[in-house]
Amino acid sequence: MLDINVTLTTAPKAKPADETKLGFGKIFTDHMFLMNYEKGKGWFDPRIVPYGPFTMDPACTVLHYGQAIFEGTKCYRRADGGLQLFRPEENFARMSRSAERMGMPALDEETALAGLKKLMEIEADWVPHQDGTSLYIRPTMISTDVMLGVHASRTYLFFIICSPVGSYYKEGLKPVGIYVEDEYVRAVRGGTGFTKCAGNYAASILAGEIAEEKGYSQVLWLDGVEQKYVEEVGSMNMMFAYGRHIVTPALNGSILPGITRKSILTLAQQLGYEVEEKRLAIADIWADIKAGKITEAFGTGTAAVISPVGELCMKGEKLSIGGGKIGPVAQNLYDTLTGIQYGRVPDENGWIVKLS
Ligand SMILES: *Cc1c(COP(=O)(O)O)cnc(C)c1O
Repeated sequence: MLDINVTLTTAPKAKPADETKLGFGKIFTDHMFLMNYEKGKGWFDPRIVPYGPFTMDPACTVLHYGQAIFEGTKCYRRADGGLQLFRPEENFARMSRSAERMGMPALDEETALAGLKKLMEIEADWVPHQDGTSLYIRPTMISTDVMLGVHASRTYLFFIICSPVGSYYKEGLKPVGIYVEDEYVRAVRGGTGFTKCAGNYAASILAGEIAEEKGYSQVLWLDGVEQKYVEEVGSMNMMFAYGRHIVTPALNGSILPGITRKSILTLAQQLGYEVEEKRLAIADIWADIKAGKITEAFGTGTAAVISPVGELCMKGEKLSIGGGKIGPVAQNLYDTLTGIQYGRVPDENGWIVKLS
C-alpha cells in the first residue's frame, strides 16, 4: 500500500444547515482523494487535498474518447454517532473490472480503500445525521493523456469526491411509474453494459428525458439484441415477486452487477424467500402482472436501496402493480438492508466496515 499525503483546507465550507433539503449530489465536501497512474510506473502519489476544480487540456483524451468509469457507495451514521461503510471493497473490485473492459489500468484497490477511510476520517462531520441521509461517495477514474490519436491513454487520474445526500423517501417508499423502452437500447452483448462507464449513461439520457416528458420517472431497458428480455431499470437492477418467490434477470454481460442486487439476493434467502436468477421475457412478465401472479416489482441500487414500481407502460398500454403501495417483500428487504447499513440490524454477513 502506498503512503497517503494529506493537505487540509484552510477555508472549510459551512455544513448544510437544513438536512431535509440536501437532495442528491448538489453539494460537495471540503476534501477529495486523488491518485495518478502512468504506464510502466503504476499508481503513484495518493493524496487528500482541498476539494476544487481540475485544469484540463482541451485535447485530454477523456473529453474525446470517454475512458471514464465511476462507482457509487455511501457512508452511514449510526444512532450512536459512529460511521460505517457498506461493502466498499466490492465497489473497488467492480471498478477494476470496469477498467479492464475499457482498456484502463486495474485500480490499486488497497490504496483506494485506505484513501477512502482516511477521507471519511477527515470529512466525518460532513456525514449527515437525519434519518435516511448519508454521505454519497463517488470514486471515478479518467484518462488524462493529451493527444487526439485513438489509443489507450498512458496516464490516468483516480479521484474520490463526496456529497451529503438526503433521504430518498420523505413520504415513505412511494412506488414509481416506469416506461418500458422499446426503441433505444442501453447496452448489447459484448459491449460495456456490465461496466459502470460514463458512456452507458450518455447513451441512456435521451430515453430518460422522453420517458420523463410522458410522466414516467425511469426507463425499463430491454436487451439490446431482440428487445424481448428485461435487463434493468434506469440505474437500478430489477426484481419481481410472485408472492414469496423473487425473480431477477440473470447477469449476462449487458446488465450491471449491482452490489445492492447481490446483497438483496443473499438477504432474501436468509429471510426465507425463494430467489431465482434467469432470463425474463417482458411478454411473460406482462402476462403475469395482468394475471395477478406478480405481486410486486422493484428496483435495487445504492442511491435508493429499493424503489417499488407501481406502474409500467409499454407501447401505450398501462399496468399497475401492488395497488400504489409498497408490498411486504420490498418493505421487509428495505428495512433489513437499510437496518444493516445504519447499524440497527446485526450484520451477520460481514458487510459493514466500521470507521468509528
Ligand atoms: C450502479 C448501477 C446499478 C446499481 O448498482 P449498485 O451497486 O447496487 O448501486 C444498477 N444499474 C446500473 C446501470 C448502474 O449503473
